[in-house]
Amino acid sequence: MNALKCTVRAGCRNRHATDAGRRRSAGGIRAVSLLFLTVGAVLFAAGEAEVRAAAPSPQRAAAAAPDYGIRAIRYATVPGFPLEGLMMGAPKDARIDIAMVVWLVEGGGRAVLFDSGFHRERWFKDFDVKDFLRPDEAVALAGVPAGRITDVVISHAHWDHLGGVDLFPQAQVWIQKQEYAYYTGDAWQPEGHHGGIDPEDVAVLLRLNTEGRLHLVDGDDVEILPGLRVYTGARHTFASQYLRVATAAGPFVLASDNCYLDRNLAEGVASATFSDADVPANLAAQKRMIRLAGSPDHVIPGHDPLQFERFPSEGRIAKIH
Ligand SMILES: [Zn+2]
Repeated sequence: MNALKCTVRAGCRNRHATDAGRRRSAGGIRAVSLLFLTVGAVLFAAGEAEVRAAAPSPQRAAAAAPDYGIRAIRYATVPGFPLEGLMMGAPKDARIDIAMVVWLVEGGGRAVLFDSGFHRERWFKDFDVKDFLRPDEAVALAGVPAGRITDVVISHAHWDHLGGVDLFPQAQVWIQKQEYAYYTGDAWQPEGHHGGIDPEDVAVLLRLNTEGRLHLVDGDDVEILPGLRVYTGARHTFASQYLRVATAAGPFVLASDNCYLDRNLAEGVASATFSDADVPANLAAQKRMIRLAGSPDHVIPGHDPLQFERFPSEGRIAKIH
């Protein structure tokens, strides 16, 4: 609860990530730094996504892609989150109840989760979490027991996206190679940044790797499974990624925290927690998502409760396609 009150502290958006990082470790946990801080942002030139070709190459797209079903599954809500923490320039007193979501993508004999939620106790102390259902139980509501999840694609290593990965014991796990390298290495060195990263999740990643279940995706525009392509360029974390899913109704883009809300797309507003240096890259990535999806309606932001209104919903589950 206290953590939410300091969500929009000026320091949380300080462009000097090193200072912000020091404050975080010295001053304890602050909500924005945990959920939303873009720790690698200042390390990279902005706008790299724009120079990439938006369309998949014909040869790679020719691989037989299933007509995937996509469902959003809401495992919790964080009420009263400051909008300023999601949209740059939003009124300081505006609040929004954000959805905590995993996405279930089914087709071609696979049940793929995009992101895994969280379940570790420490985060309930730092955030006001309502209506929580452990992600594996929430996914089971959609008719898929945890043991039948074949793959988990991790958008980024923050606690609320990676923290449930150990709940799916049979899954192959996909993460960007640079994301893995950074958060198992330099992030914990003196100049590193690890706001919002749970050391226990890092230990799980290492174990998954030694078990042969971890797939390290090397960069942008990579088809990891037929009809499922991942993209980078937004730098929410050191190497966050988002997912394009092929369906008979055209592709959908699952943005995760690379775009928080529909309003970011509609109003062309960057996520507020990006550093100034990262804003152009974030905006470029959002435009690219729309191109990749063919329409903003087919881009699904990471924490927007509207996805449960835009699409037919029952209880915790929205049928996106
Ligand atoms: Zn998040």
